Amino acid sequence: MEKRDVVIIGGGPAGRTIVHMLHAAKSGMSITVVKDEEINVNRCAVPFGINAKKPIEKFQIPNKLVTDFGAELVIDRVVKIDTDKKQVHTEGGKTIGYTHLVLSTGSRPIIPPIPGVDAETITSVRSIKDLSVLQKLSSKGKSAVVVGGGYIGIEVAVVLRQMGMDVSVVEMLPKILMATMESEFINHVENILNKSGIRLLTNEKVIEFEHKSDRKVMVKLENGDTIPADLVILSAGVLPNTELAAQADIKTSRLGIWVDEYMRTSADNVYSCGDCAEKYSFTAGQPTRGEFGTNAVFMAKIVAENILGNNSKFAGVLNANATSVYDWSLGSAGLTKQMAKDAGIDVVTGSSEVLDKYPMMDHVDLIRTKLFFNRENQKLIGGCVMRKGNSTAQHVDFMSFSIQMGATMDDLLSYQYCTHPELAAKPSDNSYTFATRDAMNKL
Ligand SMILES: Cc1cc2nc3c(=O)[nH]c(=O)nc-3n(C[C@H](O)[C@H](O)[C@H](O)COP(=O)(O)OP(=O)(O)OC[C@H]3O[C@@H](n4cnc5c(N)ncnc54)[C@H](O)[C@@H]3O)c2cc1C
Repeated sequence: MEKRDVVIIGGGPAGRTIVHMLHAAKSGMSITVVKDEEINVNRCAVPFGINAKKPIEKFQIPNKLVTDFGAELVIDRVVKIDTDKKQVHTEGGKTIGYTHLVLSTGSRPIIPPIPGVDAETITSVRSIKDLSVLQKLSSKGKSAVVVGGGYIGIEVAVVLRQMGMDVSVVEMLPKILMATMESEFINHVENILNKSGIRLLTNEKVIEFEHKSDRKVMVKLENGDTIPADLVILSAGVLPNTELAAQADIKTSRLGIWVDEYMRTSADNVYSCGDCAEKYSFTAGQPTRGEFGTNAVFMAKIVAENILGNNSKFAGVLNANATSVYDWSLGSAGLTKQMAKDAGIDVVTGSSEVLDKYPMMDHVDLIRTKLFFNRENQKLIGGCVMRKGNSTAQHVDFMSFSIQMGATMDDLLSYQYCTHPELAAKPSDNSYTFATRDAMNKL
């Protein structure tokens, strides 16, 4: 039987980051990555590959991102972990011993138990195979139904609409994007989508997929309507892959594999990180969702540090996120107002609408910002932003870092920023300062 210093199950961003960190530290450790996807795709980019404007290979993650960094790669599925003998067993019959084991098994799309869901014209949006199915069906089809109006569903809907398809989004919640966005921002997004011809059916449920001989799917809704579709996309959320851990008696919850702040699971020398691991909110200090590529990388870095013996603690996730809708972009970091309320935090909200350039410049538009502060200590605990163009991600990063550094209202009223007629608001009109002033006035 082979024995390795480190065995990593899963070759997504979490698994790969550990390989890169151990390589950069010149650890000299023997590392094996076992992954069951022969070719990984850059998942975040899948919606933007559907129009096939670029070759599908551009969306693949080369396996040399593992093998060029000193790790052995085994394409196989781990089917059992023996934490007493410190061994993993694969479907292909391999047994590999470990000193340190990492569970970075990711998550999988939720397939709602709707009659008729398992047809060829219905796909999720996650793997290279999904991307290829999406490319094929969208190139021939005229109509698509997206089930689930989170950011992935909306990104897919926009791309399909831009390809000329007739697109409907069915969302069972009262609004789209509710997991990450505030309702005023969602209203703007809904207007943009409606104007572009995307049909938004919120507060609505699919109850059946009926398949016709011409390969059309009749998508039946709870309200009695039926929408004919050549392609159905399931984007109704993900489930953490915890089964392997649970079978080995490693503690799990509905939110993932339980980990402490060192990313240690309940079994000796077994770590977990990424989509499969339970996350803690940096701000609320409670278990939370957070299936983001960034979180996978942050957690994986802590795992690598601890394998190297550096006693590194993870402070919790801020769930910084951003998405684009046509020529707009929006994002958030930290808690939404509802999350803060659920966590028992007394929230003070501040909003601003500030021009994104000097008023005399061409194509001036608004930056909309909303900030949430903890009334008790006046610290920033969350925020969201929406603006024209694609620079929202930098705003989100600023808010995320401010929360992480414990910035207070006073800090945000006195921070020093730049200005430029084409690139920023007038010196007097900073979006964060204005939103903070609004919150302070409500104290
Ligand atoms: C369409 C889409 C768009 C997204 N966009 C963004 C974005 O813009 N920004 C962002 O931050 N995040 C985004 N995400 C989320 C991000 O992709 C995930 O959070 C990230 O991939 C998680 O990384 P991971 O390594 O934990 O898991 P994964 O990437 O899922 O990798 C886990 C791997 O483990 C393998 N595996 C599982 N079980 C076994 C086993 N038993 N044996 C062997 N191998 C196994 C899986 O097959 C998989 O290859 C997006 C996700 C999707 C689907």
